[in-house]
Amino acid sequence: MVELRNIVKRFDQNTVVSNLNLDIQSGEFITLLGPSGCGKTTTLRMIAGFEHPTSGEIILDGTHVENLPAYERNVNTVFQNYALFPHLNCFENVAFGLRVKKTSKADIQSRVMQALKLVQLESFANRRPDQLSGGQKQRIAIARALVNNPKVLLLDEPLGALDQKLRKQMQVELKHLQKQLGVTFIFVTHDQEEALTMSDRIAVMNKGNLDQVGTPSEIYDHPMTTFVAEFIGETNLLAGKVLNLSQGQLTLECDGLQLFAHTDKPDFAVGNEINLAIRPERVALSKEKVDGHINISARMQERIYSGGFTKTIMALPDGKEFIAQEKTDQLLSLVEGDEVNISWNPAQAVVL
Ligand code: ADP
Ligand code: MG
Repeated sequence: MVELRNIVKRFDQNTVVSNLNLDIQSGEFITLLGPSGCGKTTTLRMIAGFEHPTSGEIILDGTHVENLPAYERNVNTVFQNYALFPHLNCFENVAFGLRVKKTSKADIQSRVMQALKLVQLESFANRRPDQLSGGQKQRIAIARALVNNPKVLLLDEPLGALDQKLRKQMQVELKHLQKQLGVTFIFVTHDQEEALTMSDRIAVMNKGNLDQVGTPSEIYDHPMTTFVAEFIGETNLLAGKVLNLSQGQLTLECDGLQLFAHTDKPDFAVGNEINLAIRPERVALSKEKVDGHINISARMQERIYSGGFTKTIMALPDGKEFIAQEKTDQLLSLVEGDEVNISWNPAQAVVL
């Protein structure tokens, strides 16, 4: 549905997007995820036609659109700040684009009411934006984009202005709406949890480059780069080098410890500098060593309670911090300064 080929975008000498390649399927919910300033909005604006690539190709539904103006592309954008017209009521805000296109009165009436119904705000047709909550304004902005029956909807941090609870609720609603309509969504966020919750696939951007594209679980469980491992969720990173390797089994030296790990990547050699990434929830704490697992002795430093889960922060022999996350009702009883065994299944650590 959308193909981005070798897209480069420079502002003066500054390269903001470098050689980006991405294929987006019809009906897919794909998220561009990355920290502020990595080029997400610029990429979206190039797809929309508000910005032109310095070089590269953009193909929408089989047609090259690099040189088409925004209004000739079958895409619509929803912005974070809603961009509603304050003096128009909800009906007229949604109808605006149709009126510009000289759509017939009867058509406008039925299409606007249908769009309002999709976002469950039919009864708000006569209200002005200042009479709406943040979540309702955002729904009107979405209705206004959907009323044009776009093949592709671009959403730039559309939930960014909502409080946490409403935001979670809108994440679910928006995902349902997208599946129901089958419209391709290209969603931008810097919030990794939001990306994991909503997306069919996530494209992780890092300083204008695409580091990894994959399903949420691929991105979370099999990060391809240290940046992805650290940006998505929390992770323990041990720096080290490869001492030995045979048939996907690596012997590593990390922070003075000798460890084992598995890898399915062929590109490691003895002497390579690596990072070993272990998710806090993959780490178990015990008094005794666990057979067949990696075991390290550590010292308990601090516990952080967060409802159902509790984090335990420990110090490794060289003083480095290491975090375990466990179910609060299954915690090993420990006090600050206690010695504790950290273990994990070597198959669940990722070598980067
Ligand atoms: P994101 O949406 O990921 O936060 P942006 O795409 O907005 O990032 O911006 C990426 C980089 O491009 C930033 O360093 C930003 O300052 C720069 N940039 C964006 N738009 C312009 C512009 N019109 N002129 C010059 N620099 C820009
Ligand atoms: Mg942005």
